[in-house]
Amino acid sequence: MSAAFSEPGSAAAKFDRKFRVGVLGATGMVGQRLVQGLAGHPWFELTAVAASERSSGKRYCEAVKWHLNQPIPAPAANLAVAGLEPALECDFVFSALDSSVAGPVEEEFARAGYPVVSNSKNHRMAPDVPLLIPEVNASHLDAIPLQQKNRGYGSGFIVTNPNCSTAGLVLVLKPLADAFGLERIFVVTMQAVSGAGYPGVPSLDILGNVVPFISGEEEKMESEPQKLLGKWDGARFVEAGLGISAHCNRVPVENGHLESVSLSLKKVATLAEVREALRDFSVGDELAALPTAVKNPVVVLEDEDRPQPRRDVNAGNGMAAVVGRIRECPLLDVKLTLLSHNLLRGAAGAALLNAELLATRGFFTRSRVSAEVPQPVTP
Ligand code: NAP
Repeated sequence: MSAAFSEPGSAAAKFDRKFRVGVLGATGMVGQRLVQGLAGHPWFELTAVAASERSSGKRYCEAVKWHLNQPIPAPAANLAVAGLEPALECDFVFSALDSSVAGPVEEEFARAGYPVVSNSKNHRMAPDVPLLIPEVNASHLDAIPLQQKNRGYGSGFIVTNPNCSTAGLVLVLKPLADAFGLERIFVVTMQAVSGAGYPGVPSLDILGNVVPFISGEEEKMESEPQKLLGKWDGARFVEAGLGISAHCNRVPVENGHLESVSLSLKKVATLAEVREALRDFSVGDELAALPTAVKNPVVVLEDEDRPQPRRDVNAGNGMAAVVGRIRECPLLDVKLTLLSHNLLRGAAGAALLNAELLATRGFFTRSRVSAEVPQPVTP
């Protein structure tokens, strides 16, 4: 199976009319996955793409260096790439912008009334911005009205998804936190090169090699789970208070971040109980109805040598975290290996799922939609 989102059309059309969507940073690795994931989406329709001055003014198919095996979706290919001014013909935007520009651009869009569903790190830890994994902390969306009030955003707002290695880790930690409580987590990552964007790590640095440093990654892995597994108390996010130590490594793998995790639990649990808690983790009806959701977002494998990136990265259409090697840890309580798709569960799929939840909960309006469909650039 390809790493594309599978059949988004399989979810029932929920809204009378599709929401129109813009993608900021549409030419990048994550942006391309978003463009692909929006093709045939039952609730969303891509109507605008934007990127840097290098790309703006060109047709999307001319501006993008397309990395996916399937061709550029036809509706996207001839869209004119816009610049980053908040004047796009759409109801909300995804942001897959480089973090060097994402911060102020996302704020400008929110201020202009656009909901912004972001992949970038810039606003993740802001005290009024939800850092969201729907299966983990959907209640954090309650922070949006306060964000809008504090910042004078009107109908706009910013919601973010976590860093790509945090996404898989927290998905696996959530059922364990609920069943047993968590105390300390020690994690070592082996992260795919596609996590660095394009062109990313030079081939001469990574072929036949491991680079034991990814700028800022350990800090993100040590801080983001505290917010994700914490609570929104009506006025602020209260962190989970976990002890977390992360070591992050870049390895010569195309897609999929593998993580070796040791953790200590508040309540004594057998390995069978840990396995059962992970296996039984499933989403309720609201989330199960989202087109990008999987009913069981954690997949447990029994083979002693799994998960492996090449074999398991597309589990659950790239939206599941795959866990194996659950065993006793002589230092903490339990150790295990997990894998998740950095570009899907860790980026574009996560953003799509966030947007689907926002749509379901009525956070999007159609006030920006004009009767006119934006005209593609003539080839
Ligand atoms: P990428 O391949 O480098 O793409 C970056 C995008 O930002 C491109 O569309 C690029 O447009 C645009 N851009 C770059 N510099 C710009 C500038 N000065 N002004 C305007 N636009 C600019 O990066 P990526 O991997 O897709 O990542 C995108 C964002 O998602 C980043 O913030 C990243 O940290 C985050 N993220 C990535 C992953 C992953 O696994 N790759 C996972 C989670 C989150 P041009 O093509 O026109 O230059």
